[in-house]
Amino acid sequence: MASSERPPVTGATRLAAVIGDPVRHSMSPTIHNAAFGELGLDWMYLALPVAAGGGADAVEAMRTLGIDGLSVTMPHKDAVAAAVDDRTEAVERLGACNCVFRDGDRLVGDNTDGDGWVRAFEHDTATPLAGTRLGVIGAGGAARAIVEAAGRAGAEAIVVVNRTPAGAERAAALSPVASVGDAGALAGCDIVVNATSIGMAGGPDPSGIPLSGSWIGEHHTIADIVYRPRSTALLIEAERRGARTVGGLGMLVHQAAAAFERWTNHTAPVDTMTAAVLETLVSSD
Ligand code: NAP
Repeated sequence: MASSERPPVTGATRLAAVIGDPVRHSMSPTIHNAAFGELGLDWMYLALPVAAGGGADAVEAMRTLGIDGLSVTMPHKDAVAAAVDDRTEAVERLGACNCVFRDGDRLVGDNTDGDGWVRAFEHDTATPLAGTRLGVIGAGGAARAIVEAAGRAGAEAIVVVNRTPAGAERAAALSPVASVGDAGALAGCDIVVNATSIGMAGGPDPSGIPLSGSWIGEHHTIADIVYRPRSTALLIEAERRGARTVGGLGMLVHQAAAAFERWTNHTAPVDTMTAAVLETLVSSD
C-alpha cells in the first residue's frame, strides 16, 4: 500500500507520538506515518508538545490513553528514562531514553540514537563497525549514545574529543574501549563522527569545522550527524581531502526505524522512511 493510502482512521487505530518542546518542527510524524502507510498498518503518529517537567506525566498518559509507542526528545529524555517500568541496557548506561514501547503491561524505555547511528553507518557504507577505531567529536546526548552503542557493536577503540574535558570523560566512561583524546588522535582513527551541533550553518565556513580539518586523510571515513544542511562544512572539507563521507540523514531514519520495530514488530521500510525525509527536506530548503 502506498504511503498516501493509509487505512481510514477508526476506533481500532493505534497511536504513537513524539513528545518534546519544541516539537512542531519534528520530522518524526513524516517518517513514521510514511512507514505505517507503506506497510498498511492501522497506526497513526502525532507530535505532542509537552513542556519541561511533563515527561513523567506523559509516561502516565501512555498508560491512561493506551498510546502504544512514544518517541522522546528534548527536554524529556532523562525524566522519561526514570519514569518507565523497565530500561534497556543502553538506557541503564545513558540515563536517557528516546523511545518507549510496551512489553505486555510494562512500559520499556529504549535509546535507539546510538544503535541508529551504527545501523545507518553500516547500511550507508556497507562496512561493519566492529574492529574499527572510531573518533567521536562531541560529548552531548547524541555523542554519548554513539559511544555506548559503538562499544556494544564491537569497535576496537573509541576516542572522544570534546571542547569541555569533563564531558569527554563522562562520555568515555560509557565504554570499556573508549578514552579521551585530542585532534591528533583523530588522525589515527578509521572513522570520525562529528556529534556536536557545530556545522549546522553549512557551507565552507571554517567556524563550522570541528577543531581543524588538518587531521583528515584519505584513509578516513568522516561522518556528521547533522542532517540539515545535508552537506556540512566538515563533510565538504573531508571530501576535499579525499575521505569517504557519511551524512546525518541515515541516523535520523535508522533511530526511527529501530523504534518502529520495537512498537510494531514489523521490519521498518527504511527506503520509504528515507524518501519521506528527503521529500520534506527538499521542499523546505
Ligand atoms: P547536546 O547534548 O547539546 O551536545 C552538544 C555538543 O556539541 C557538546 O559536546 C558540546 O560541547 C558541543 N558544542 C556545541 N557548540 C560547540 C562549539 N561552538 N564548539 C565546540 N563544541 C560545541 O546536543 P546533542 O543532543 O548531542 O545533539 C548534537 C547535534 O546532533 C545536534 O545538532 C542535533 O541536531 C544532532 N543530532 C542528530 C541526530 C540525527 O538523527 N541525525 C540525532 C541526535 C542529534 P561542550 O560539551 O563543550 O558544551
